[in-house]
Amino acid sequence: MAPSINGTAGATITAGEAPSNGATMAEPNTHNALRFDTLATHNTEPEAPTGAIVPSICLATAFQQEEVGVAGGHTYTRFGNPNRNSLEANLAALEGAKTAICFSSGTAVTTALVNMVPRGGHIVSVSSVYGGTHKIFTQIINKTNEIGTTFVDLSHKDENVVAQRLEEAIGKGQTKLVWLETPTNPDLSLVDIALVSRVAKRIDPSIVVVVDSTFASPWFQNPLSLGADVVMHSLTKYLNGHSDVLMGAAVTSSDDLATHLRLHQAALGAVPSPFDCWLAMRGIKTLGVRMREHGRNALKLAKWMQAHPYIKDVIYPGLPEHPSFDLVAKQISPKAMQAQQPRNIAQDGIEYSGMLSFRLNCDATDKEPGAALLKRLEVITLALSLGGVESLIEQPSTMTHWMVPEAERLQLGIGHDLIRLSVGLEDVEDLMEDLDRALQAVFGGAAGKKMKMSA
Ligand SMILES: *Cc1c(COP(=O)(O)O)cnc(C)c1O
Repeated sequence: MAPSINGTAGATITAGEAPSNGATMAEPNTHNALRFDTLATHNTEPEAPTGAIVPSICLATAFQQEEVGVAGGHTYTRFGNPNRNSLEANLAALEGAKTAICFSSGTAVTTALVNMVPRGGHIVSVSSVYGGTHKIFTQIINKTNEIGTTFVDLSHKDENVVAQRLEEAIGKGQTKLVWLETPTNPDLSLVDIALVSRVAKRIDPSIVVVVDSTFASPWFQNPLSLGADVVMHSLTKYLNGHSDVLMGAAVTSSDDLATHLRLHQAALGAVPSPFDCWLAMRGIKTLGVRMREHGRNALKLAKWMQAHPYIKDVIYPGLPEHPSFDLVAKQISPKAMQAQQPRNIAQDGIEYSGMLSFRLNCDATDKEPGAALLKRLEVITLALSLGGVESLIEQPSTMTHWMVPEAERLQLGIGHDLIRLSVGLEDVEDLMEDLDRALQAVFGGAAGKKMKMSA
């Protein structure tokens, strides 16, 4: 069933409701059965009385009430405001869900979700998880609420192995939450959402399965359709897409989970500003276009890297050589599969988001070649974060995963030779030339050749 642009969350924005400043905010769009790109581009409708096709930003923190006890649609901006409500309704529609609840960062979403676990409870998490999420599990809630987390690698190809590992991990405590992130960071392996949800629910139907779907965005992956209970996004990344908003959202079709999340949003107060919501809405209008182009550029670049003499290994889930390739083909959203440009998927690969990692032809314990390379790039920017229109590059071992002890880091494959690239929307030829120029400068000549021979 295709949801309306505003999903059912739109029920909270009554049409025609007028803010106290006299202007009527954008009417929620109530068309049913529209497709993804239309839902995204038409996430706002012309606003009465002017017909402005871009919505107003409603900065009011308080809304006039008709009489005591009789409020209109909004009362106080922390509980809801026109810009946030429109954004939440649109996010729900893009994930095919009932409700989306926005927070001031992706991390605030994680905080709200782990608050569902009672004192002494247990979480099962994929081992390759976002650094900030790892920090909440291992440095915060274990201390404040004695909540234990078992980390487990669920990216194995064999379904029986995954089911067995999951069952063992769930058995290690009073498991309330199974935390998945797919694709993972920075090794870009996938987890079978349908399989994990099925096995977890078979063991205990009350276990909540959360999927951090930030790297895929709602264009490439819709976890709720695969059996997960909640999708979380850092809108900071692809959804906003322009590297100028920090925000997160939880999306769900469960009324109970929505009630929990709404309480946390309103009571703990980590909410985004109306202006940030407005910016995110503008970003989302081009989500489909951007994601297709991110995928196209990333697949082209990944194949070019495979042939480059100074690159040892390319990790992109859409490459047929990637261990999770079969799962990409199975788990990618049908709309993204339909939009593929390669004719022969098995041979040419799948355009699947814009994140890729690669290994330089150097020692995993030597951080200098990677650092030198990143310093020499002129088009690609050395910076944390990802998912923006501009390409960003980083060395995970020194920038995002430095806190992981070296032995563990190397075991996870995060040596100094590993580089993570968020492929942007530049002309891909310029990205290739930029990388080639820097690679030649660092690895070309006698030193480079020696390294290559000894590798
Ligand atoms: C960035 C990110 C987060 C955290 O989001 P913030 O908006 O920075 O708080 C969580 N998960 C993943 C996969 C991310 O990339």
